[in-house]
Amino acid sequence: MAEETIFSKIIRKEIPADILYQDELVTAFRDISPKAPTHILIIPNAVIPTVNDVTAEHEQALGRLFTVARKQAADAGIAEDGYRLLVNCNRHGGQEVYHIHMHLLGGRPLGPMLAQ
Ligand code: AMP
Repeated sequence: MAEETIFSKIIRKEIPADILYQDELVTAFRDISPKAPTHILIIPNAVIPTVNDVTAEHEQALGRLFTVARKQAADAGIAEDGYRLLVNCNRHGGQEVYHIHMHLLGGRPLGPMLAQ
């Protein structure tokens, strides 16, 4: 069993978070430290630590990250202008929370994909 993180507590509503959407497979909530006017995290409810741990069993939940991202972007009014979806993996990717998550960032021009 993969180790739980703070995100499991958010999914179970044991700690406060601004949850925008939840179903049996995924949860979407606002990032606590937003890097853009819209910054939403979309996560599977099951603990998958990193992209390195993904298997075919996860395809339904991980596919849903995209359909929820599309809907959240539309609801936030950023779909037309555009946005960025980002998944960090491990140290070099800058991953801080080891429960796989998709960042939905938008609301302003985001600039080049990488800082350098
Ligand atoms: P990453 O660096 O890809 O692992 O991103 C982790 C993200 O989780 C960061 O953008 C944090 O601001 C965010 N985060 C950490 N704790 C919380 C929390 N309790 N509620 C909402 N977002 C959080």
